[in-house]
Amino acid sequence: MSAYPDITLHIGGVARAGSGGEIEIHDPATGETLAMARLASAADLDDALQAAETGFAAWRAVSVFERCRILRRVGELLRARQDAIGQVMTREQGKPLAEARGEVAASAEVFEWYAEEGRRAYGRVVPSRTTGARMIVVREPIGPVAAFTPWNFPALTPARKIAGALGAGCSIIIKPSEETPATCLALVEACVEAGVPAGAINLVLGDPPTVSHHLVTSPVIRKVSFTGSTAGGRAVAALAAQGPKRATLELGGHAPVLVFDDVDVEAVAALGAQRKFRNAGQVCVAPTRFYVHEAVHDRFVAAFASAAERIKVGNGLQQGIGMGPLANARRLEAVHGLIEDARRHGARLVCGGERIGNRGFFYAPTVLAEVPESAAIMSEEPFGPVAPIARFRDLDEVIGRANGLPVGLAAYAFTGSGARALALSERIEAGMVGINRFEIAAAETPFGGVKDSGDGREGGTEGLDAYLVTKTISQA
Ligand code: NAD
Repeated sequence: MSAYPDITLHIGGVARAGSGGEIEIHDPATGETLAMARLASAADLDDALQAAETGFAAWRAVSVFERCRILRRVGELLRARQDAIGQVMTREQGKPLAEARGEVAASAEVFEWYAEEGRRAYGRVVPSRTTGARMIVVREPIGPVAAFTPWNFPALTPARKIAGALGAGCSIIIKPSEETPATCLALVEACVEAGVPAGAINLVLGDPPTVSHHLVTSPVIRKVSFTGSTAGGRAVAALAAQGPKRATLELGGHAPVLVFDDVDVEAVAALGAQRKFRNAGQVCVAPTRFYVHEAVHDRFVAAFASAAERIKVGNGLQQGIGMGPLANARRLEAVHGLIEDARRHGARLVCGGERIGNRGFFYAPTVLAEVPESAAIMSEEPFGPVAPIARFRDLDEVIGRANGLPVGLAAYAFTGSGARALALSERIEAGMVGINRFEIAAAETPFGGVKDSGDGREGGTEGLDAYLVTKTISQA
């Protein structure tokens, strides 16, 4: 097994301990301390800003073909280290090793995508109104980026931001979650080793509001990218607005899943359970509220619960584990509280509903049926291994319920009717809609939400645009 590494900051091409306070990093499967880490002081953050400024000048001067070669090399290094980085991720975050390895591979794909897409930051020539003149539109990197990422996808979320920024020719200061820093550090090391120049990529750790205030209000930073809680996103967006600086915000959702009576109910239930309990439900696009047509509701609940009960819960490093612990004690408490609240509102507990053991943060895969809309779990993101299921009668009613929340990140619907699929894809308010499938995210497609789920997109051509500015050149 890979040793858990020393946690450092990474500033101006050099790994160094922070000169701020110290924190403990825990293994959520055991509760034991994995490492102590020193946080960044204000002076460290100033050094990172300075490094990002010089790193930007160096990186934008590298030819786009060379940048492409370097980012492809990052992808290769991540693939070669898939197992080692995966083990580190499982230890600090808890997800089963197979999921962690898959996430590292997906992160490599993101680097490969931006390596290619950076070469396509095309401009255009617009016919001039005057003969002897030319109007040229070019795309340029926006400048140094400050990025903030949470603990649930410690590789993939930083990868989207780092690769997007570097692919466009920007430098970046990334602040991963202090709970899962080693995975992101491994990404940064791969970038440096592949040839990203000193200062073009920097990593800092610290108290989130203090770090975001210091970085986002600095004149060096031109763009902000944040993934995390709505409260955190609002705070960072407010700081960015003072610039004003462009901000990409991914703030989570509460994905409805609409299951109609013209599908293979047992197959959809099994698939739904598989996706629900991935990463112990700590996924912003996780299927969250299940609305099942009344004609097939009871069959769906039985099949879903049977799949949930078969999931082997345990330390993600062990063979055959389907679900690991929750990532931290906060989630354990929050998830249990939402389940108890739903039961008080009349929901029926079909399976689960309790913590497993008292070592680590394990919680049983839980299914709740007959959950009323008034239960908090139907509007608050549970971010845990619990599936609330409710019945519905007709299309308009269920679309109203699906669209009833202020968030709109992902949504899913299962139906055998083409006409209904079309209506659903048009009427559901979400940034991503899965019809008859749960796969909605890929390096080459835009990822992001509408309404309170945030603003802006990562991935796809939009993910590169997020780090580019447009310049019009009028030349005679
Ligand atoms: P939290 O608000 O403490 O932190 C969430 C993330 O935001 C962390 O990574 C944190 O470092 C960051 N953050 C918070 N305030 C910040 C600030 N002012 N500046 C910079 N970064 C800041 O919440 P938590 O207890 O970790 O999770 C609570 C809820 O957040 C979850 O239940 C879930 O709903 C949501 N969440 C969403 C995502 C996502 O992928 N969108 C990821 C993690 C958590």
